[in-house]
Amino acid sequence: MSRFFSDRFASLTAYVPGEQPQDQQYVKLNTNESPYPPSPRTRSAVSDAELARLNLYPDPTGMRLRNTLAAHYGVKPTNVLLANGSDEILSFAFMAFCDAQTPAVFPDISYGFYPVYAALYGVGANIIPLREDFSMDVDALCAAPGMCVLANPNAPTGMALPRAAIERILLSNPNRVVLVDEAYVDFGAETALPLLAEHDNLLIARTYSKSRSMAGARLGFAFGSEALIADLETIRFSTNPYNLNRLTLLLGEAAVVDDAYYAQNCKRIAATRESAAARLTSLGFTLTESKANFLFARHPAIPGEALYSGLKARGVLVRHFNKPRIAEYVRITIGTPEQMDVLYAAIEDILKGGAPCAKQP
Ligand code: PMP
Repeated sequence: MSRFFSDRFASLTAYVPGEQPQDQQYVKLNTNESPYPPSPRTRSAVSDAELARLNLYPDPTGMRLRNTLAAHYGVKPTNVLLANGSDEILSFAFMAFCDAQTPAVFPDISYGFYPVYAALYGVGANIIPLREDFSMDVDALCAAPGMCVLANPNAPTGMALPRAAIERILLSNPNRVVLVDEAYVDFGAETALPLLAEHDNLLIARTYSKSRSMAGARLGFAFGSEALIADLETIRFSTNPYNLNRLTLLLGEAAVVDDAYYAQNCKRIAATRESAAARLTSLGFTLTESKANFLFARHPAIPGEALYSGLKARGVLVRHFNKPRIAEYVRITIGTPEQMDVLYAAIEDILKGGAPCAKQP
């Protein structure tokens, strides 16, 4: 730390993203990306003529993409906020709706960025433990004061709440914001979107990083009441009005138009998830019931850390969180069926007590 770093951040522990090795040597099942590329139409959305226009700033209102998203999801453009990945939606929401009197409320086991944003913005974190089986304690969430932040499905468990439970939390206190982070909703959970018209305290964060194969393009968006979105626009224009670049704005529009391609991929990923769950169970793993594009698994014979490093030594990257309650688990992103076969072979090898094979990177 330099002597110039503000005292405000002296004790800030930054978010640590999953490994992103740049050499392509691993079967990469560690950061919940789609194993499938964007559709051909999405890829051809960026023309040479558009690249030649990179000397010009993008539309700071992102109006064309907002209109396209609004029409697709059945809301008004004024109900949509665009962001540089859904992490930026979360960042704006913590800035806009939390303060010293209004903490953020979230479960002890959830997306690791929530406590980082709370610390970054100097707001309280009102942490509600998940139950023993990692289910959400909805009553405790209803009773806790502050902006409620829920990943649905949750990460890293993949477990989902029904829409009725979200509605109960919304109704428990209409005077606080409930932010539902739907990063993984397209893989089989219920969206809270139909609740938007009735609940002006609902904010939904979405991303095209997972179901739309666009993690590298950084496109997130939020749905909320006109007033909530206007607040977030004030924050956006006060931080980075050009938060979405020209290329991503175009890629996003093309991805919406190609919805059928991405819906098909989500179906394939959900089917691979179900067969992976069965296979891992037969290998002795215990799993949470995931509705996301990943599984959360532990094995009675292999500690989580050893499983992570044993798989890495065999060329397969998964995610391990060295945190209370979940240190024995690994989170495995669903890959293609071929990638999953490499995973199963590596696990079988570890279970047999084999040494890492020659293919190790
Ligand atoms: N929410 C959750 C629960 C996530 O797991 C992630 C991915 N790390 C994000 C939000 C952020 O995704 P992105 O910024 O790529 O949209």
